[in-house]
Amino acid sequence: MKFNHITVAGSGVLGSQIAFQTAYKGYPVSVYDINDEALEKAKDRIREWMPYYKEDLGATDEQLDEAFNRMSFHSDLAEAVKDADLVIEAVPERTDIKTDFYEKLARVAPEKTIFASNSSTLLPSQFAEVTGRPEKYLHLHFANEIWKNNTAEVMGHPGTDRQVFNDVVEFAKSIGMVALPLKKEQPGYILNSLLVPFLNAAQALLANDVADAETIDKTWMLATGAPNGPFAILDIVGLTTAYNIIQAKAQATHDPDAQRIADMLQNEYIDKGKLGRASGEGFYKYPDPAFRDPGFLKS
Ligand code: NAD
Repeated sequence: MKFNHITVAGSGVLGSQIAFQTAYKGYPVSVYDINDEALEKAKDRIREWMPYYKEDLGATDEQLDEAFNRMSFHSDLAEAVKDADLVIEAVPERTDIKTDFYEKLARVAPEKTIFASNSSTLLPSQFAEVTGRPEKYLHLHFANEIWKNNTAEVMGHPGTDRQVFNDVVEFAKSIGMVALPLKKEQPGYILNSLLVPFLNAAQALLANDVADAETIDKTWMLATGAPNGPFAILDIVGLTTAYNIIQAKAQATHDPDAQRIADMLQNEYIDKGKLGRASGEGFYKYPDPAFRDPGFLKS
């Protein structure tokens, strides 16, 4: 089935990117968030992505304006989903918030609507029943900076309809993604099965005062040739999301390292307004972070 109208729910770091990329590729997109203030923030975020579309993809002002004009913004959920063939959910990475969202969504979405979550760490089988339409529910996981880091991991649960899965794979391709189908449920998909342990290891080195963030990043960049170290990546992810992930781990495992990392993120960064690149400062200061300095890897 070809989708005609897409709704993106949650218009934060990832939701705003998914919505804009989908509109850029020609779909009408309804953006849903909890209130007008959040929606205004989303519009500002989207304007911030536009220069990257010009720089990285050669997009013209006209194309960017057209994409923006294909988007509509709603704080009323029923209104936001009334035409949706597909709802892509990008609300905060908390089981209680997502469960509550799906309960409300199930009450107002048309029967045809497929629900896909962009959750980074949770499994589709956790929410399949609460959606009220388990066969039309799966995960569609994007990476940050979606316009150039164009992975779309597609992961069903055992009850996801095959055709629904295949339609979502085709949709992902139609918005310029490389679709990466998973054969079974895997916490963290492919990407985060690799990335989360890596970022946790880096944060443990910092929280245990083994080395500072710049030294850890330098080590990784020099030794592997990678363009970014773990703390530059964490700034892109956003420290609130990083905190939610590590705090959930600390609660589930009582791992003292995880708790130390969560406390460090909260006390030394989040409480001071250092939320990552989107807020202008995280582990680095933006727009000219130290790791982009030509001398960074030389001394
Ligand atoms: P974020 O905190 O930047 O944005 C969340 C948005 O959801 C905010 O705009 C908030 O106002 C809104 N929201 C809160 N409660 C809501 C509700 N009940 N209904 C609708 N909207 C609500 O978070 P984010 O980093 O964009 O993450 C969103 C999802 O995307 C998470 O599941 C996360 O795991 C996933 N994800 C994040 C990244 C990343 O790098 N940040 C990458 C891939 C996937």
